[in-house]
Amino acid sequence: MKHAYVLATLAALNALPAAIAWGVSGHHAVGLVAEQFLSKNAQAFVSDILGESYHSSLALASTWADSVRDQPEYKWSAELHYMNTKDSPRTNSCTVELERDCPGGRCIVAAMGNYTWHLLQAAQPRAQAEEALKFLIHFLGDVGQPLHTEALALGGYQLPVICEGQVTNLHWVWDEAILDSRIVRQFHGSVRHFASWLVRDMKHGAMSRTVASWYKTPWSLQSYKEQIISDSEAQAPFYNAVYDEDTYLEWTREANAHACTTVFDYRMREELCEGRYANMAFQVIIGQIAKQGYRLAQTLNDIVDAVEPELRPRF
Ligand SMILES: [Zn+2]
Repeated sequence: MKHAYVLATLAALNALPAAIAWGVSGHHAVGLVAEQFLSKNAQAFVSDILGESYHSSLALASTWADSVRDQPEYKWSAELHYMNTKDSPRTNSCTVELERDCPGGRCIVAAMGNYTWHLLQAAQPRAQAEEALKFLIHFLGDVGQPLHTEALALGGYQLPVICEGQVTNLHWVWDEAILDSRIVRQFHGSVRHFASWLVRDMKHGAMSRTVASWYKTPWSLQSYKEQIISDSEAQAPFYNAVYDEDTYLEWTREANAHACTTVFDYRMREELCEGRYANMAFQVIIGQIAKQGYRLAQTLNDIVDAVEPELRPRF
């Protein structure tokens, strides 16, 4: 693997745009893909919870978590958007370890477990269910971005790189720049066209052969339900998340593995938003958005199936 090189000064870093997650396009695409794989019951569940404020749309609700993370009352949520994985991608060692990388449960894996748990609670105020759903939608998107599962250089924020001739940082290139430039050039600037193209490939094209392998229900949502019913008076401590090494942690490992194969594989002064690197990165981005969209839908389908119809929230 080639090394990434620091190209610019700290002054240049300070002028960088404040990108904070998969950009809007990435999150919208995950939501739009997911909407095409939701069961009828899950569609009704989502509609009940999101209501008219988001036109029952996973895509429209998908960026709420980024919009509030800098507000004082939601500052606590900022570190839940990623996993500070302290591995060594430059020596080709990509590993994710919960104890090392998620101290105190303050990371995206714990957050996904936590908000799954919250959505399984039958009785809760609408606002609480809506917040849990919006966090879950967002974090299932973020976890697919390889630099949200990597601590090196603050997930790439501290690595100045070249994108369309300008100095920017590696994190932003992965969050937004490569995807947005492809959407402009190949999909008439429409995230909806991009997502439709992905869904067609997932249902009828090359990806259709592997889609079913992207998700399995390894944890027993039934046992969640029993736990909730038997302990219905208990308030879940925020970080009493249920970790599941077969699901959320596995997805984190999958995203993190791209740090060893693709993310840091560029040369000094290489243009990253066009040509070789952009082509390689876009293939990863396509796969990750498709997977996370499908996984979001199946997670919601499973959550809804685990709650008896009469116990599902109705608002
Ligand atoms: Zn985020």
